Amino acid sequence: MTAATPAPLVDTHCHLVLLETEGLLQAALEGAAAAGVQVIVSVGLNLEDSHRNRVLAERHDGVYFSAGWHPHEATPPDAAQLRELDALLDHPKAVAVGEVGLDLFWRPGYHEVPLDVQQRSFRLMLDLAAHHHKPVLVHDREAHAEILDELSRVPEVRGIMHCFSGDTAHAQRCVERGFAVSFSGIVTFPNAGGIRAAARDVAPESFVVETDAPFLSPVPHRGKVNLPERVAHTAAEVARLRGLAVDDVRELTAATARRILGVSAHEREHAAG
Ligand SMILES: [Zn+2]
Ligand SMILES: [Zn+2]
Repeated sequence: MTAATPAPLVDTHCHLVLLETEGLLQAALEGAAAAGVQVIVSVGLNLEDSHRNRVLAERHDGVYFSAGWHPHEATPPDAAQLRELDALLDHPKAVAVGEVGLDLFWRPGYHEVPLDVQQRSFRLMLDLAAHHHKPVLVHDREAHAEILDELSRVPEVRGIMHCFSGDTAHAQRCVERGFAVSFSGIVTFPNAGGIRAAARDVAPESFVVETDAPFLSPVPHRGKVNLPERVAHTAAEVARLRGLAVDDVRELTAATARRILGVSAHEREHAAG
């Protein structure tokens, strides 16, 4: 049995609620277990979505959740919503505040939320993370400098740059700031030169992997609905870029993710046993 068990993987960022909406929850969980994905962080986009992710985490071993307020939300959370997010973060399976951040890629149909609204949301969420001593899962689309600027207000807050989209120099800046960078399926896209270079160069203890499922399916499943099990393709590509064995990258990124998220391997073994 043991020999056939794949090396562990952690999907640090996925949206199980969106997969559930598409009728794919059971397939997603079974496929993940078969592929060796021991931990899935199912990420909240707003208060209601965070609650739905909490319910999934309560029902399924190995599934954890984050509570957050996405930069695409049209307004910052009001006082009552903020209190509820605050209460959600006391849950034993709430491992992070997210997703939160800034998105300066404005397109009709994608989002059109002004920067000042996004900044107000982001600041409230960073304060929550500081209060709870939890990591943040940061959404950064074309906002590298603006995000580092916001983070400078809360030097104690650490976390993960989800779906990392910068180059080696930016990865180093994030690592110096105390963040890990998370590689998604984009690292398998041939035209993602800067991101692929960052995946090769970033310090070994400072990166993790994710799917952002149902989005961003990696090669060879590009264009399809993404699933947590495909984090294996991303780990394999990062291993290839770094000249490492795939199992070493799986073990390394799983250990880094568990450290940042505060999820012990023992806890999971116990749950599985
Ligand atoms: Zn995102
Ligand atoms: Zn996401």
